[in-house]
Amino acid sequence: MTEKRDYYELLGVARDVSKQELKKAYRKLAIKYHPDKNPDNKEAEDKFKEASEAYEVLSDDNKRQIYDQFGHRGLEGAGHSGPSGFEDIFSSFGDIFEDFFGFGSGGGRGNRVQRGSDLRYNMTIDFMEAAFGTEKTISIPRLDTCKECHGSGCEEGSRPETCSKCHGSGQFIQSQGFFKVKTTCPYCKGRGTIIANPCSTCRGAGRVEKTRKVQVKIPAGVDVGSKLRLSGEGEASPSPEGTSGDLYVVINVKPHKFFQRDNTDIICAIDISFIQAALGDEISIPTLVGEEKFKIPKGTQYGDVFRLKGEGIASLRTGRRGDQIIKVIIKTPTKLNSKQIELLKKFDKLDSNKISNKLKNLFKNL
Ligand SMILES: [Zn+2]
Ligand SMILES: [Zn+2]
Repeated sequence: MTEKRDYYELLGVARDVSKQELKKAYRKLAIKYHPDKNPDNKEAEDKFKEASEAYEVLSDDNKRQIYDQFGHRGLEGAGHSGPSGFEDIFSSFGDIFEDFFGFGSGGGRGNRVQRGSDLRYNMTIDFMEAAFGTEKTISIPRLDTCKECHGSGCEEGSRPETCSKCHGSGQFIQSQGFFKVKTTCPYCKGRGTIIANPCSTCRGAGRVEKTRKVQVKIPAGVDVGSKLRLSGEGEASPSPEGTSGDLYVVINVKPHKFFQRDNTDIICAIDISFIQAALGDEISIPTLVGEEKFKIPKGTQYGDVFRLKGEGIASLRTGRRGDQIIKVIIKTPTKLNSKQIELLKKFDKLDSNKISNKLKNLFKNL
């Protein structure tokens, strides 16, 4: 893969850019490179995708912080899959295009039939559920196609009539200076048809609000910010021929009390005594699936790091598991009885390699 360009550089903004300025900069590029304006232009399409990806990250406080701290690498495996992953960059930016061009997602891309809106659902799952995957049923309130009229919005036996104002095209084209501006026909609201006898169930809307249960399969390895797309589980299209939008499930993961996560690795801290550190020992270490015997080598130092290979979390892409990283914390005893103090003092006298002596020598040489 070629080196990815810096997101700030790509959007032509400073690193401390405000959200408003960021949006402005993106808007400029998105309008310039939008596929509608550059049909069959691969370079423009790539630029458009690049800018969209950069904007997606930098407009999200959480992702922006990760990116600022760790760069592109920080977002790998965090569910940010870029334009080639399971996220369709065009559909997920529906709201922004509505904002920019004055017509809804889908409708913004040529004269296609309008697509239903995408929906977003924020889901919080446990650390272990993220590690091993899970299945959840969620209730989504959404606009569904009306069963009575099958989305036509007409009372049985009647049909929609062609809108006389736009002659069925659903839009007006007006010239403003150099630009031709498309606006949605206000009489038929872009449908191109007028309903004289509206359906009594949906009052002519063709859609009714309904709460639907959706089964979500969450793959092992998802992390905070991972986005799952459930194709067609968004809102129904306002027109009967249109397709439904998608449902995006955005994952949040609760922290674990013992493990921390770093991409596919998990990190844990283990307390040991200075005796165990000096002499070595075999101890039990909690792992994701239970526990494992672990040999602490003699002469272990504070902060030494050990790895249990393949005991981490599965990668979303490859399925390969990361490692468990063990950080050793050596505890100094705080409650000593007189016998122990005596022994330690004796030990101190015997220790020819005392740190205090080293310090004395150090000061002598200064
Ligand atoms: Zn019309
Ligand atoms: Zn109806």
